[in-house]
Amino acid sequence: MPDTRHRPIPHGRAPVLAACDLDRTLIYSKNALWLPGPDKDAPALVVAEVYDGAPLSFMTRAAEDLLLKLSAAAAFVPVTTRTQAQYERVQLPGPAPEYAITTNGGKLLHRGVPDPGWRRHLAARIAADCAPLESVEARLAGPAHARWILRVHRAEDLFVYAIVDRGAMPAAFLEQLQAECAAAGWTVSLQGRKLYCVPAPVTKGGALDEVARRTGAGTILAAGDSLLDADLLARADVAFRPLHGELHDAGHQAPNLFPTTVRGVLAGEEILARMLALAEAAG
Ligand SMILES: [Mg+2]
Repeated sequence: MPDTRHRPIPHGRAPVLAACDLDRTLIYSKNALWLPGPDKDAPALVVAEVYDGAPLSFMTRAAEDLLLKLSAAAAFVPVTTRTQAQYERVQLPGPAPEYAITTNGGKLLHRGVPDPGWRRHLAARIAADCAPLESVEARLAGPAHARWILRVHRAEDLFVYAIVDRGAMPAAFLEQLQAECAAAGWTVSLQGRKLYCVPAPVTKGGALDEVARRTGAGTILAAGDSLLDADLLARADVAFRPLHGELHDAGHQAPNLFPTTVRGVLAGEEILARMLALAEAAG
Protein backbone atom coordinates (compact mmCIF):
# COMPACT_ATOMS: atom_id res chain seq x y z
CA MET A 1 0.00 0.00 0.00
CA PRO A 2 1.32 3.51 -0.69
CA ASP A 3 2.46 5.25 2.42
CA THR A 4 2.19 8.99 2.67
CA ARG A 5 3.10 9.51 6.30
CA HIS A 6 6.89 9.35 5.94
CA ARG A 7 9.08 12.24 5.01
CA PRO A 8 10.03 11.93 1.33
CA ILE A 9 13.29 10.25 0.44
CA PRO A 10 15.40 12.19 -2.07
CA HIS A 11 15.81 10.68 -5.51
CA GLY A 12 19.32 9.49 -6.22
CA ARG A 13 21.54 6.89 -7.79
CA ALA A 14 22.91 5.41 -4.56
CA PRO A 15 21.28 2.04 -3.90
CA VAL A 16 18.46 1.67 -1.42
CA LEU A 17 19.16 -1.03 1.17
CA ALA A 18 16.12 -2.88 2.49
CA ALA A 19 17.35 -4.78 5.56
CA CYS A 20 14.76 -7.13 6.98
CA ASP A 21 14.76 -9.45 9.98
CA LEU A 22 13.32 -12.88 9.13
CA ASP A 23 11.51 -14.67 11.98
CA ARG A 24 8.28 -12.98 13.05
CA THR A 25 9.03 -10.04 10.76
CA LEU A 26 9.08 -11.60 7.29
CA ILE A 27 8.41 -15.31 7.94
CA TYR A 28 6.19 -16.92 10.58
CA SER A 29 5.83 -20.32 12.20
CA LYS A 30 2.28 -21.68 12.48
CA ASN A 31 2.04 -20.53 16.10
CA ALA A 32 2.94 -16.95 15.14
CA LEU A 33 0.62 -16.52 12.12
CA TRP A 34 -2.13 -14.85 14.17
CA LEU A 35 -5.04 -15.37 11.84
CA PRO A 36 -8.02 -14.88 14.17
CA GLY A 37 -10.71 -14.47 11.47
CA PRO A 38 -12.67 -17.20 9.68
CA ASP A 39 -10.41 -19.71 7.91
CA LYS A 40 -12.16 -19.05 4.61
CA ASP A 41 -10.89 -15.44 4.76
CA ALA A 42 -7.28 -16.34 5.63
CA PRO A 43 -4.65 -15.16 3.15
CA ALA A 44 -3.02 -17.70 0.86
CA LEU A 45 0.29 -18.80 2.39
CA VAL A 46 3.52 -20.11 0.89
CA VAL A 47 6.09 -22.25 2.69
CA ALA A 48 9.31 -20.34 3.36
CA GLU A 49 11.13 -23.06 5.33
CA VAL A 50 11.09 -26.83 5.54
CA TYR A 51 12.56 -28.55 8.60
CA ASP A 52 12.85 -32.33 9.03
CA GLY A 53 10.76 -32.74 5.90
CA ALA A 54 7.83 -30.67 7.16
CA PRO A 55 6.81 -27.03 6.58
CA LEU A 56 7.96 -24.79 9.41
CA SER A 57 7.77 -21.12 8.32
CA PHE A 58 5.39 -19.26 6.07
CA MET A 59 4.71 -15.95 4.38
CA THR A 60 1.64 -14.82 2.51
CA ARG A 61 1.51 -15.32 -1.25
CA ALA A 62 1.10 -11.55 -1.58
CA ALA A 63 4.24 -11.03 0.55
CA GLU A 64 6.17 -13.34 -1.75
CA ASP A 65 5.10 -11.23 -4.70
CA LEU A 66 6.02 -8.00 -2.92
CA LEU A 67 9.44 -9.36 -1.95
CA LEU A 68 10.17 -10.16 -5.60
CA LYS A 69 9.35 -6.58 -6.54
CA LEU A 70 11.31 -5.16 -3.59
CA SER A 71 14.38 -7.19 -4.59
CA ALA A 72 14.19 -5.53 -8.02
CA ALA A 73 13.75 -2.01 -6.60
CA ALA A 74 16.32 -2.20 -3.76
CA ALA A 75 19.22 -4.23 -2.44
CA PHE A 76 17.34 -6.63 -0.19
CA VAL A 77 19.45 -7.75 2.79
CA PRO A 78 18.10 -10.59 4.98
CA VAL A 79 19.19 -10.03 8.58
CA THR A 80 18.79 -12.76 11.17
CA THR A 81 19.92 -14.11 14.50
CA ARG A 82 19.76 -17.58 12.91
CA THR A 83 23.04 -19.36 12.30
CA GLN A 84 24.20 -19.68 8.72
CA ALA A 85 22.87 -23.25 8.50
CA GLN A 86 19.49 -22.21 9.91
CA TYR A 87 19.39 -19.28 7.49
CA GLU A 88 20.14 -21.52 4.54
CA ARG A 89 16.93 -23.46 5.17
CA VAL A 90 14.89 -20.31 4.48
CA GLN A 91 13.75 -20.15 0.87
CA LEU A 92 12.87 -16.65 -0.24
CA PRO A 93 11.68 -15.81 -3.74
CA GLY A 94 13.90 -14.12 -6.28
CA PRO A 95 17.65 -14.03 -6.84
CA ALA A 96 19.97 -14.86 -3.94
CA PRO A 97 20.74 -11.58 -2.13
CA GLU A 98 24.26 -10.23 -2.66
CA TYR A 99 24.63 -9.68 1.09
CA ALA A 100 22.99 -11.44 4.01
CA ILE A 101 23.63 -11.02 7.72
CA THR A 102 23.33 -14.10 9.94
CA THR A 103 24.25 -15.11 13.48
CA ASN A 104 22.97 -11.76 14.74
CA GLY A 105 25.60 -9.89 12.75
CA GLY A 106 28.37 -12.34 13.58
CA LYS A 107 28.49 -13.47 9.95
CA LEU A 108 28.40 -11.34 6.85
CA LEU A 109 27.61 -13.51 3.82
CA HIS A 110 28.67 -12.15 0.47
CA ARG A 111 27.08 -14.18 -2.33
CA GLY A 112 26.50 -16.89 0.25
CA VAL A 113 30.09 -17.06 1.51
CA PRO A 114 31.10 -15.82 5.01
CA ASP A 115 33.39 -12.81 4.88
CA PRO A 116 36.60 -13.68 6.78
CA GLY A 117 37.59 -10.04 7.32
CA TRP A 118 34.34 -9.31 9.14
CA ARG A 119 34.79 -12.32 11.40
CA ARG A 120 38.36 -11.24 12.27
CA HIS A 121 37.19 -7.71 13.00
CA LEU A 122 34.52 -9.00 15.40
CA ALA A 123 36.82 -11.52 17.06
CA ALA A 124 39.26 -8.75 17.98
CA ARG A 125 36.49 -6.60 19.46
CA ILE A 126 35.00 -9.52 21.43
CA ALA A 127 38.41 -10.48 22.82
CA ALA A 128 38.97 -6.89 23.96
CA ASP A 129 35.53 -6.09 25.42
CA CYS A 130 33.64 -9.23 26.45
CA ALA A 131 33.80 -12.03 29.00
CA PRO A 132 34.50 -15.41 27.37
CA LEU A 133 31.59 -17.36 25.90
CA GLU A 134 32.32 -20.29 28.22
CA SER A 135 31.57 -18.19 31.32
CA VAL A 136 28.15 -17.11 30.01
CA GLU A 137 27.39 -20.66 28.92
CA ALA A 138 28.28 -21.95 32.39
CA ARG A 139 26.07 -19.29 34.00
CA LEU A 140 23.05 -20.48 31.98
CA ALA A 141 23.78 -24.16 32.49
CA GLY A 142 24.00 -23.84 36.30
CA PRO A 143 21.90 -26.46 38.15
CA ALA A 144 19.97 -23.76 40.07
CA HIS A 145 18.12 -22.75 36.89
CA ALA A 146 17.48 -26.23 35.52
CA ARG A 147 13.71 -25.89 36.11
CA TRP A 148 13.37 -23.20 33.41
CA ILE A 149 16.58 -23.49 31.37
CA LEU A 150 15.75 -26.64 29.41
CA ARG A 151 18.66 -26.71 26.95
CA VAL A 152 21.68 -24.51 26.22
CA HIS A 153 23.03 -24.17 22.68
CA ARG A 154 26.11 -22.51 21.28
CA ALA A 155 25.67 -20.63 17.98
CA GLU A 156 28.77 -20.90 15.77
CA ASP A 157 31.03 -20.30 18.80
CA LEU A 158 29.81 -16.71 18.82
CA PHE A 159 26.90 -16.59 21.23
CA VAL A 160 24.69 -18.74 23.46
CA TYR A 161 20.96 -19.35 23.51
CA ALA A 162 18.80 -21.40 25.82
CA ILE A 163 15.41 -23.01 25.31
CA VAL A 164 13.40 -21.92 28.33
CA ASP A 165 10.12 -22.64 30.07
CA ARG A 166 8.89 -19.06 30.37
CA GLY A 167 6.14 -19.95 32.82
CA ALA A 168 8.69 -21.35 35.26
CA MET A 169 11.29 -18.61 34.81
CA PRO A 170 11.24 -15.97 37.55
CA ALA A 171 11.38 -12.33 36.41
CA ALA A 172 14.15 -11.76 38.95
CA PHE A 173 16.35 -14.33 37.18
CA LEU A 174 16.06 -12.46 33.90
CA GLU A 175 16.79 -9.09 35.52
CA GLN A 176 19.85 -10.45 37.28
CA LEU A 177 21.09 -12.18 34.16
CA GLN A 178 20.70 -8.94 32.19
CA ALA A 179 22.67 -7.00 34.82
CA GLU A 180 25.46 -9.61 34.96
CA CYS A 181 25.68 -9.87 31.19
CA ALA A 182 25.77 -6.08 30.78
CA ALA A 183 28.73 -5.94 33.19
CA ALA A 184 30.45 -8.71 31.17
CA GLY A 185 29.93 -6.99 27.81
CA TRP A 186 27.02 -9.19 26.74
CA THR A 187 23.37 -8.45 25.87
CA VAL A 188 20.27 -10.54 26.65
CA SER A 189 17.10 -10.95 24.58
CA LEU A 190 14.09 -13.19 25.24
CA GLN A 191 12.08 -14.21 22.16
CA GLY A 192 9.38 -16.81 22.49
CA ARG A 193 11.01 -19.83 24.10
CA LYS A 194 14.56 -18.70 23.28
CA LEU A 195 16.77 -16.72 25.64
CA TYR A 196 19.75 -15.22 23.79
CA CYS A 197 23.03 -14.04 25.32
CA VAL A 198 25.14 -12.26 22.71
CA PRO A 199 28.48 -10.37 22.96
CA ALA A 200 27.76 -6.64 22.71
CA PRO A 201 29.84 -6.10 19.51
CA VAL A 202 27.88 -8.82 17.66
CA THR A 203 24.97 -6.73 16.39
CA LYS A 204 22.80 -6.67 13.31
CA GLY A 205 23.26 -2.91 13.08
CA GLY A 206 27.05 -3.15 13.09
CA ALA A 207 26.97 -5.64 10.22
CA LEU A 208 24.47 -3.48 8.34
CA ASP A 209 26.86 -0.52 8.67
CA GLU A 210 29.48 -2.65 6.93
CA VAL A 211 27.08 -3.61 4.11
CA ALA A 212 26.09 0.07 3.72
CA ARG A 213 29.78 1.05 3.53
CA ARG A 214 30.57 -1.61 0.92
CA THR A 215 27.55 -0.88 -1.25
CA GLY A 216 27.59 2.91 -0.90
CA ALA A 217 23.96 2.81 0.13
CA GLY A 218 22.07 6.08 -0.07
CA THR A 219 18.94 5.17 1.84
CA ILE A 220 18.45 2.46 4.44
CA LEU A 221 15.09 0.84 5.17
CA ALA A 222 14.89 -1.71 7.98
CA ALA A 223 12.37 -3.88 9.79
CA GLY A 224 12.48 -6.11 12.87
CA ASP A 225 10.47 -7.25 15.87
CA SER A 226 12.89 -8.05 18.69
CA LEU A 227 15.27 -6.21 21.02
CA LEU A 228 18.13 -7.64 18.94
CA ASP A 229 16.72 -5.62 16.01
CA ALA A 230 16.64 -2.29 17.86
CA ASP A 231 20.08 -1.16 16.72
CA LEU A 232 19.28 -2.22 13.14
CA LEU A 233 16.12 -0.11 13.17
CA ALA A 234 17.98 2.83 14.71
CA ARG A 235 20.36 3.01 11.73
CA ALA A 236 17.61 3.20 9.12
CA ASP A 237 16.20 6.29 7.46
CA VAL A 238 12.80 4.65 7.77
CA ALA A 239 12.15 1.60 9.93
CA PHE A 240 9.18 -0.64 10.58
CA ARG A 241 8.22 -3.01 13.34
CA PRO A 242 5.29 -5.40 13.49
CA LEU A 243 2.44 -4.80 15.89
CA HIS A 244 3.67 -7.80 17.90
CA GLY A 245 6.89 -9.07 19.42
CA GLU A 246 9.45 -8.03 21.99
CA LEU A 247 9.78 -4.40 20.78
CA HIS A 248 6.02 -3.99 20.59
CA ASP A 249 5.57 -5.43 24.09
CA ALA A 250 8.21 -3.00 25.36
CA GLY A 251 6.40 -0.07 23.72
CA HIS A 252 9.55 0.69 21.70
CA GLN A 253 9.26 3.98 19.80
CA ALA A 254 11.56 6.18 17.74
CA PRO A 255 10.99 9.08 15.36
CA ASN A 256 12.03 6.97 12.34
CA LEU A 257 10.07 3.87 13.41
CA PHE A 258 6.58 2.99 12.17
CA PRO A 259 4.57 0.11 13.64
CA THR A 260 2.41 -1.88 11.25
CA THR A 261 -1.37 -1.65 11.50
CA VAL A 262 -1.82 -5.43 11.73
CA ARG A 263 -0.27 -8.35 13.63
CA GLY A 264 1.13 -11.71 12.65
CA VAL A 265 1.95 -12.89 9.14
CA LEU A 266 -0.02 -9.99 7.61
CA ALA A 267 2.40 -7.57 9.28
CA GLY A 268 5.18 -9.07 7.14
CA GLU A 269 3.15 -8.35 4.03
CA GLU A 270 2.48 -4.76 5.15
CA ILE A 271 6.18 -4.13 5.86
CA LEU A 272 7.15 -5.29 2.37
CA ALA A 273 4.44 -3.12 0.76
CA ARG A 274 5.61 -0.04 2.65
CA MET A 275 9.28 -0.73 1.90
CA LEU A 276 8.48 -1.25 -1.77
CA ALA A 277 6.59 2.06 -2.00
CA LEU A 278 9.56 3.89 -0.46
CA ALA A 279 12.15 2.10 -2.61
CA GLU A 280 10.22 2.86 -5.79
CA ALA A 281 9.82 6.50 -4.77
CA ALA A 282 13.59 6.75 -4.15
CA GLY A 283 14.64 4.91 -7.32
MG1 LIG B 1 12.53 -11.63 14.58
